[in-house]
Amino acid sequence: MNHWHKRIFSTAVALVVAMAASLTLPRSELSVQAASLSEIQQKQEEVQQKLDAVNADLKAVEGQLADEEAYQQSLTQQINLNQEKINLMNQQIAAYTQNIEDNEAKIAQKEEEIVQKEDEIAQKQEEIDDTYEVFKTRMRTLYMAGETSSLEMLFSADSFADFLLNVELMKAVSQSDEQLVSDLRTQKQEQEEQKAELLETKQQIEETNIQIQQDQENIIFQREQIKATQSELESAYAESKTAQQNYEALQEQYQTNKDAVLAEEKQVEDELQAWYAQQAQNNQGSSSGSSNSAFGWPLPGYTYISSGYGPRWGGFHSGIDITGGGVYGANIVAAESGTIILASTHWSYGNYVIIDHGGGYTTLYAHASSLLVSVGQQVSKGQAIARVGSTGQSTGPHLHFEVRVNGVHKNPTGYVSP
Ligand SMILES: [Zn+2]
Repeated sequence: MNHWHKRIFSTAVALVVAMAASLTLPRSELSVQAASLSEIQQKQEEVQQKLDAVNADLKAVEGQLADEEAYQQSLTQQINLNQEKINLMNQQIAAYTQNIEDNEAKIAQKEEEIVQKEDEIAQKQEEIDDTYEVFKTRMRTLYMAGETSSLEMLFSADSFADFLLNVELMKAVSQSDEQLVSDLRTQKQEQEEQKAELLETKQQIEETNIQIQQDQENIIFQREQIKATQSELESAYAESKTAQQNYEALQEQYQTNKDAVLAEEKQVEDELQAWYAQQAQNNQGSSSGSSNSAFGWPLPGYTYISSGYGPRWGGFHSGIDITGGGVYGANIVAAESGTIILASTHWSYGNYVIIDHGGGYTTLYAHASSLLVSVGQQVSKGQAIARVGSTGQSTGPHLHFEVRVNGVHKNPTGYVSP
């Protein structure tokens, strides 16, 4: 080629390169969207923090509610136990009241019997008095008869005989009177003894009744103490109920807050999806603009980018690392048709391949376990060129993929997507 040809050729190449550059992805738009992505991710993080906070609030209030419920349960148990005691005491008190009333009736009856006995005794006394009076009269008559008749009766045998008879008779009568008085006195004595017995019985019942009344008073006192405790427990229960209602209102508030945060989360997710959709559209637009940049995904079946393009570890990561479970040995395919211009081993890249796609575009595939192509070979888009490995500077099986335009590495995510 002569000088002019060379010049024309280089000018043409420069033109094509310039065209290709202008036709590929508008880089400025990408960077705007990248910033927007980080904004969305920032929002997502903030929403997550809010969600964590509101979940913590909810958990705390649920704990407080559980505490109140447990407290109320123990109070209810105590209140029921006390109520049982009160019921039992009420029964005891009622039984004592019945007992006291029975005893009072018995006492009244005894009193009646005593009065009756006293009447009987009085009556008996009267009888004794009357009989004694008769006895005395008879004795006096007998005495007087004895004094006056001694001379008179001597002149009349009949009257003397009568007199003697009378004396004997009166003696007999007076003896009978004496016996009668003695019997009556014995009867009265018995009645007095019966009265004493009645009094003693009455006194015993009264003493028993006093004891029962004291016992009843003790139980009433205990019952009043339990009732006082009961009213304390009931006000504690009412307080706990109020606290519970407050916590429930709080819980409702937190739930409302959570719903709002969840809505926000959904919104951010929508934004993120919209961003991805836009990204995909942009990629499609760029690849349709230039046949050379219509790259395909180099590692079919694996979409996870473990390390992106950009500054890394104080250096610069010139490509993307694609990996996934069971990736070792998976086929690495040509992103676009082209010529293999390098298939070799590098201290850092390990086993690697570079394909020239023309138009200044090259792609690089590194860390392969084995290479399936050799330099100068033509490959078509999607053709297997190597297998995934972990050769060179690699910490695990993955594909390190680069896109270079005129030898300068670019962010591959601007050209390929899974
Ligand atoms: Zn890498």
